[in-house]
Amino acid sequence: MPLEAVEKIWMNGELVDWDKAQVHVLTHALHYGSGVFEGIRAYKTERGAAVFRLTDHIKRLVRSAKLHYMELPYSVDEWVAATKQVIAANGLDACYIRPIAFRGYGEMGLYPLKAPVECAIAVWPWGAYLGEDGIKHGIRAKVSTIRSLDANSITPAAKACGQYLNSSLAKMEVTASGYDEAVMLNSHGFVTQGSGENIFWVRNGRLTTPPLSAGLLEGITRDTIMQIAAKLDIPAREADTTRSDLYIADEAFFTGTAAEVVPIRELDDHVIGAGEPGPVTRRIQDRFHKMVAGHDREFAHFLEHVK
Ligand code: PMP
Repeated sequence: MPLEAVEKIWMNGELVDWDKAQVHVLTHALHYGSGVFEGIRAYKTERGAAVFRLTDHIKRLVRSAKLHYMELPYSVDEWVAATKQVIAANGLDACYIRPIAFRGYGEMGLYPLKAPVECAIAVWPWGAYLGEDGIKHGIRAKVSTIRSLDANSITPAAKACGQYLNSSLAKMEVTASGYDEAVMLNSHGFVTQGSGENIFWVRNGRLTTPPLSAGLLEGITRDTIMQIAAKLDIPAREADTTRSDLYIADEAFFTGTAAEVVPIRELDDHVIGAGEPGPVTRRIQDRFHKMVAGHDREFAHFLEHVK
């Protein structure tokens, strides 16, 4: 998706001009994918821009760094403050937020620990990742031949730069065949997640999502959906999921910060349910949109206001 430039990017403790936020071509992360990052959204509310579960996202960044032996030079509180600072500096009331910590210039080779760790936070206006139409009417997904990362290779528990080569392969493969998004399986054949989303399905009114042990990212939206389900008295569980569970589900949807809650209306050319977003998906979507817009008292604590 094309980028819409804004004025400032936070880089290593300072606000710099968008065009000046640059790195050397021998940056370690460019060659070896040695970085960790986050994807966060700020939403427009009556009290100005509010970042959805900002602290929880930054805590995940810290966990990703730990898994990759990376020492972050900033604390959770400092990342949180810097995120608010860069949103305010650009005068945005809604945006996507991309914090990243990566191994920089000065070392080459596969032992990365001596390379300096560089940090940046970029923000930009970003619409629905899988399209407004996808949110409203659902998308067509396909199971990719690319397997999910295994817990004993590049850990899927971290959100690290290099691992997204695997997601990109899946996304390119299914897009070339005319589908909107990939569903990925682990080496045992169980469903894990989308290329950049977690996945849920509904059968007989019960919500299911694959467990972390299947090898997937612990999504902040995934957790939010489980909390919404509890409030709405929708029974929900984590359970190993096969592709046929999805084919015969009444409803299915993807969740993620960029994508939000996106119904899946077809998988591998099997129509899911009635081929349109189902009632459980709709109730969850509604509650999610109310929550992020600041119209949900019970979940007000998820919004971290910029001012
Ligand atoms: N899985 C993968 C592989 C992702 O890249 C993302 C997006 N960060 C997610 C799941 C969803 O996570 P979240 O809800 O925290 O954005």
